[in-house]
Amino acid sequence: MPGTPTRSDPKPPVGVDPTRASIARVYDAFLNGKDNYEIDREVLRGVQKAAPEAQDLATENRGFLIRASRFLAEQTGITQYLDCGSGLPTAENTHQVVQRIQPESTVVYVDNDPVVIAHGRALLVENELTHFSDADIFNPPSVLKDPVVRRHLDFSEPIALLQLGTLHHYTGERNPADIMQEYVDALPSGSYIAISHFLDPENEHSTVARKMEHMFLHSPMGSGKFRTKAELEELFCGLEMVEPGLVLCADWWPDGPRLKPLNQVQYCIAGGVARKP
Ligand code: SAM
Repeated sequence: MPGTPTRSDPKPPVGVDPTRASIARVYDAFLNGKDNYEIDREVLRGVQKAAPEAQDLATENRGFLIRASRFLAEQTGITQYLDCGSGLPTAENTHQVVQRIQPESTVVYVDNDPVVIAHGRALLVENELTHFSDADIFNPPSVLKDPVVRRHLDFSEPIALLQLGTLHHYTGERNPADIMQEYVDALPSGSYIAISHFLDPENEHSTVARKMEHMFLHSPMGSGKFRTKAELEELFCGLEMVEPGLVLCADWWPDGPRLKPLNQVQYCIAGGVARKP
């Protein structure tokens, strides 16, 4: 379990500093994965001080990834995916979800975390239709001109671009909506984008959102911005939203009836899918 001081940490790959938290490993810790170090679990414990249910940020995000990918594969006819910020391999990765439905789908994962590059690449690239690039997802030209991306994705045919749990980690000076606009401009008509992002729900759960944000930003990871719904809407660059629009991840086509009320953390992450006309 994350946070257990007695667990033995995996041996760090060459070039990986286990004394610095990383987004990919912290996320792995939130998902109860094994590819994280004590410094990453320290971030998890810090955010749990703000909200004991903090791991639901990751659980909800992953559930949205699976349902949105399933929707794209089942309903849109898309067979090309650009998954920006793949993360470490976990139970159901994008290519497994979409290739189960459309076996001929190509998936290009992009991630620049050294542990993802070292371990993840080997596990994520399971077949000849799945590829990996280590470009910088916050620098769209580096992704769009990347040789792996160019070799395996045909930009004259619709592409699904996924930015799931990524844009809230951008710490640069640009408006993240401008970053998304660069991607959207490069996508052909009929393409889709899917985004999930930490949310300040501007209601009674706003306080907990801002407390979690404070813990993330002041943690050894140093990123994790909670934006308002209006700020998140901008990230979709005016594209046509797929029903039900930008909503809590928990409310985006849940798998079945809901018998339990949502907890405070489940109100703090939202997602949506949009189509470029
Ligand atoms: N998309 C996955 C999901 O939703 O389950 C993983 C999300 S994880 C929170 C964010 C991922 O983005 C991490 O694996 C991290 O390494 C990657 N990432 C962060 N900044 C990046 C950058 N500038 N370029 C490439 N990848 C980046």
